Amino acid sequence: MPSALINGKEIGQSIRNDLTKRIEYLNEQGISPGLAVILVGDNAASKVYVSNKQKTCEELGIYSQLITFDANLSEHELITTIESLNADPAIDGILVQLPLPKQIDESNVLSAILPSKDVDGFHPINIGKMMLGQDTFLPCTPYGVMKLLEYSEVELSGKHAVVIGRSHIVGKPMGQLLLQKDATVTYVHSKTPNLKEITLQADVLVVAVGKAKLITSDYIKDGAVVIDVGMNRDENNRLCGDVDFESVKEKASYITPVPGGVGPMTITMLMENTVQSAENELRQDKRSENR
Ligand code: NAP
Repeated sequence: MPSALINGKEIGQSIRNDLTKRIEYLNEQGISPGLAVILVGDNAASKVYVSNKQKTCEELGIYSQLITFDANLSEHELITTIESLNADPAIDGILVQLPLPKQIDESNVLSAILPSKDVDGFHPINIGKMMLGQDTFLPCTPYGVMKLLEYSEVELSGKHAVVIGRSHIVGKPMGQLLLQKDATVTYVHSKTPNLKEITLQADVLVVAVGKAKLITSDYIKDGAVVIDVGMNRDENNRLCGDVDFESVKEKASYITPVPGGVGPMTITMLMENTVQSAENELRQDKRSENR
C-alpha cells in the first residue's frame, strides 16, 4: 500500500502560526526577538540558506541582522564579532552559517557563542544538556524531525529506530532524541558493512547521508516510517533526497518528500529556538524585577 506523506510544509506552517502568537505577546511586553546570521565567504548553497532564514524572520516579525565577511576572514575577527553579538541585547540568537573557510576552526567559533544565544544548538554545553535530556536549544534539523514524527503521531516507544549518518549536526543528535522517546536506536555510517541487514529491521528509518537516492525499497521493512533528511541534486539537477522516493513510498507507511519534508522544518525550528530565547530573556527580566 502506498505510504502517507509527512508534509513538512503544512506541519511547519502550523508551528509558525503558533510562533506568530508568541511573538505578538513578546511585542506587547516590548520585546522583539532578534536573530543574527553570520555568513563567511560566498558558498552558493549557504547564501540560499541564509536568505531563506532571513525571509522567514521577516514573515514572522523576527528582527534579523545579516553580517557578511569575505572568505579570508580570520578566526579572531569572527570571534570578536560573535562576542559583540553576545553582548547585544537586541540579539536573542546567533547563527554562524556552516561550513566555514579552512583557516577557521569551527569548534572554536561555535564555542564562542553564548549558550543562551546558541539557537542552532551546537555549543558543547547545549549538546551536553541535550544528552542529559535537560531543557536546551535542540539542533534544528533533528528537532524538526521529532516534530514531524510527533505531529504524524508516530509511536516511538519500543520501536527500532535506525539512523543512517553520524554527523554532529544531524545523525548524532537525531539518535539521542529518538532514544529519549524510548526508541531502541541503532546508528549506521560509512564503515557499517551490513547496512541493508540493519535498515531492514527499522520501524523508523532516518536517513542523513548526502547521497542522492542511496536508499531504495530493498532497504526498507514493510510499513516502516521513513524520514529523508538528504538534500541533493539528481542527474537532472532537480532537488532530491537520500531516499529513492518513488520506490520506497510503495513500502513505507509514512514518508517525507524532498523538497517539502524535513527542509521547511529546519528553518521553522530555528525560528522556534529564537523565540524561545527571547522568552527566556523575558522570564529572566521578570525574575529580576521581582527581586
Ligand atoms: P555529513 O556530515 O556529510 O555526514 C554524512 C554521514 O553519512 C556520515 O556520518 C557518513 O559516515 C554517512 N555516510 C556516508 N556515506 C554513507 C554510506 N554509503 N552508507 C552509510 N552511511 C554513509 O552530512 P550531514 O551534514 O549530516 O547531512 C546529511 C544530508 O542531509 C546532506 O544531504 C545534507 O545536505 C542534508 N541536510 C539537510 C538539512 C535539511 O534541513 N533538510 C539539514 C542538514 C543537512 P561517516 O561518519 O563514516 O563518514
